[in-house]
Amino acid sequence: MFDKILIANRGEIACRVMRTAKRLGIATVAVYSEADSGAPHVAMADEAICIGAAPASESYLAIDAIIDAAWRTGALAVHPGYGFLSENAEFAEACARSDITFIGPSPETIRLMGSKLEAKRLVEKAGVPVVPGFHAADPSEKELREAAELIGFPLLIKASAGGGGRGMRLVREAGEFEDALAGARREALAAFGDDQVLLEYYIGQSRHIEVQVFGDSAGQMIHLFERDCSVQRRHQKILEESPAPGLSPKVREAMTEAAVQAAQAADYVGAGTVEFIMDVGRAEDIGNFYFLEMNTRLQVEHPVTEMVSGIDLVEWQFRIAAGGRLPLDQSAVKPRGHAIEARIYAEDPRQDYLPSVGTLSHFRLPEETASLRIYSGVREGDAVSPYYDPMIAKVIAWGQQREDALRRLRRALDRIEVVGVTTNRDLLAAIMVHFDYASGAFDTTFLDEHRDELATEAKAPVVESLVLAAIAELDQLSADVQTSGAARDDPYSPWRRRDGWRLFGHSSCGLRFTDQDEEILVRATVEGTAYQVDWLGVGVRATGVTVQDGVVSAEIRGRRIAGRVVRLAQDRHVIIGGLVRRLVLGASDASDAAAEAGGGKLTAPLPSTVVKVHVELGQKVAHGQALMVLEAMKMEHVVIAPGDGVVAAIHYAAGEQVLEGAELIAFETE
Ligand code: ADP
Ligand code: ADP
Ligand code: MG
Repeated sequence: MFDKILIANRGEIACRVMRTAKRLGIATVAVYSEADSGAPHVAMADEAICIGAAPASESYLAIDAIIDAAWRTGALAVHPGYGFLSENAEFAEACARSDITFIGPSPETIRLMGSKLEAKRLVEKAGVPVVPGFHAADPSEKELREAAELIGFPLLIKASAGGGGRGMRLVREAGEFEDALAGARREALAAFGDDQVLLEYYIGQSRHIEVQVFGDSAGQMIHLFERDCSVQRRHQKILEESPAPGLSPKVREAMTEAAVQAAQAADYVGAGTVEFIMDVGRAEDIGNFYFLEMNTRLQVEHPVTEMVSGIDLVEWQFRIAAGGRLPLDQSAVKPRGHAIEARIYAEDPRQDYLPSVGTLSHFRLPEETASLRIYSGVREGDAVSPYYDPMIAKVIAWGQQREDALRRLRRALDRIEVVGVTTNRDLLAAIMVHFDYASGAFDTTFLDEHRDELATEAKAPVVESLVLAAIAELDQLSADVQTSGAARDDPYSPWRRRDGWRLFGHSSCGLRFTDQDEEILVRATVEGTAYQVDWLGVGVRATGVTVQDGVVSAEIRGRRIAGRVVRLAQDRHVIIGGLVRRLVLGASDASDAAAEAGGGKLTAPLPSTVVKVHVELGQKVAHGQALMVLEAMKMEHVVIAPGDGVVAAIHYAAGEQVLEGAELIAFETE
C-alpha cells in the first residue's frame, strides 16, 4: 500500500479521496490553483502545492506541474478523481515515466475506451450488444451523410472522445444534418482536441443504466451492480440510484454479465463503469439494452454503489493500484437496500441550466447520518467560480426500500440552505414529489418533458416569510439593546432582559419590506414570546416564539413553523424547508417604536440618533401622537405619547446622539 498519495483534482472528489486515505493512514498531498488557495481540499490535505493559475488548463490539467508536485513531495501515487486528467492517457503515461503509480487503468486501456468508436468495436467483438449506428474510422463527409440516410432520423451525432454530454447533437431530420455535424465537430475539437464522430440510432424512450465493474491485475473481474442514471439534463445526470427501479432480475443479470464481458475484453484493471442504454419501447426478451461507452475512472455517482454494497470503492482502487487482488469475489458481494444520489449544481434550471457564479454567502447542508452521506467541496463564504464545474454538493440517501431512501433524500434536500447563487435544489425537490419519479416510471426524457412544471419559480411562502422576517428583526433589535451599554455594566439592569427594549410595556415597530417589486408595510408588535404581525389587512399572531442562530420558530395559525432568516446588508433571506424568499428591508418613515412610559418619562429604547422633534416645550398632546423620531439600525422609531398630556421637558434636539435608556422627554399626563 502507498504511504503518500497526491490527489490531482479539487472539490468534493479530492476531499472524498482524502477521506479514505486518512482512514487508511495514507498521507495526502493536494494540488491547487491560485483560485483555490482557501478551498476545503487544500485545508484537508497534509501538504498542498500550488500548481498554477485559475484556468484548469494552467493548473488542474497541467501534467508537468502535477508530476513535479508529486516529485517534490515524495508522493509515489496519484489519484486523478473524475473529470480533469482522469481519462487522459498522456497523464497516465507521464506518471509511468516518472515512476509514479497512476491510480486507474493503464494508458492503453484509457486510450482504447476513451474512444467511443474503438470501444464499441471492441466490445461488439466480445459479444456485447452496442447501439446500432455507424462506427467507421475516419469516414468522409459523404460516407457519413449516406450512413445517416440509412440509419434514418432522428439520430445522434456523438464525439468519439466525448464526455459530460459535450460534442453530442440530436438530428431530427435530414436537413439539420450538415449543421449538426459541423457543430459536433467544433465542440469536440474544442473540448477534447479530437473531432472524430460516430452516428447512432436515437433511442427515443430510453433509460441510462450503468454497471460498476472492478478488475485486478491477476485478471479477476467482478461487478458491483447497476445504477439508473436516467434523470438527466443536457445529457448529464443529476439523479442516480441503485438498484434500477423495476429492472427484471433477468435483464439485470444479462446486463451485469455484459458489463463484465466488456471490461474483460479491455483487460480492465481498477474501477470502471460500463454504460448501457435501455430501449424502453422494446421487449426485454429480445434484448433491449446496448453498450454506450465505458468510463475508465471513478464516477461522480459512485457513492450510490458504496451504500448498497458496503464497499469503499476508493479503498479498492488503492489496493488494486498497489498491486493487490480484488478483496472479494462476485459471490461475496451482496447488495443491500436502495440508495439515491442528488447532485446539487450552482445553475439556473429556468435559464437552460446556466451555471450561476457568485459567493455562497450562506450555505448549510444537513448533518450526515449512517443513511445519509453528504459530499461537498465548498464552504460558506466560498466563491463558485466560472473556472470549474458548478457542482457544489452531492447528497446520497440510503433506505431499506426505494421509498425509504426517497423520503430521506427529500428531507435532506429540505435542509439545504443556499444564499448567494442559484441552484437546482428547488428543481430536485420538485422532482422528488413528481408522481413519475416517485413511482420509478421515468426515462431519459423525463426532465425535458416535465421541465415546465418542475422548473417553476419556487419561493418560501409569503405570509410565513414576512412573519418570520419581522420577528427576526425585532429580536435583533432586542439583542442589540441587551449587549449594549447599560446591560454590560449592570447585571440587574432591565435592559438585560430579553424583552429589554420593550421596557415601555409593549412595543411595536413598523418595517418596510420589499418583496420583488412589491412594497409591504408591516407592523410588528411584541408581547412576551408572542408577536402580532399585521399588514394590509392581514393579521397574524405568532406564539411561543424562539429565535436561535437565525432560526425563528413560532406557532402560526395552529402550526409550528421554523425558518432561518439570513441577514445580508438590507436583504433578509427567509429560508423555509429549503425554499428561499428574499425580502429587502427599507428604512421606514412609517415605523415607530411606540413607547408607553410608566412614570411620565420617555426614554430611548436603544442607542440612536434623534432625527426629528415634533413637539415643543409645554405643548399639549394627545395619546398616540408622535413626539420624536429616532433612528437606529437603519430604521426609524417614533416615540409616541403614552396618553393625553403636556410636554414638560425636551432633553435632546435633532441630530443629537442618545444612549439607550436616556430620558428623551418628560411628560405630564393629565
Ligand atoms: P459521470 O459519468 O461520472 O457521471 P459526468 O459526465 O457527470 O460524469 O462528468 C463528471 C465530471 O467530470 C463533471 O464534473 C464534468 O463536468 C466533468 N467532465 C466529464 N467529462 C469531462 C471531460 N471530457 N473533460 C473535462 N471534464 C469532464
Ligand atoms: P457522454 O460521454 O457524454 O457521457 P454517452 O454516450 O454516455 O455520452 O451519452 C450520454 C447520454 O446521452 C446518455 O446517458 C443518454 O441519456 C443519451 N444518449 C446517448 N446515446 C443515445 C442514443 N443512442 N439514443 C438516445 N439517447 C442517447
Ligand atoms: Mg456517458
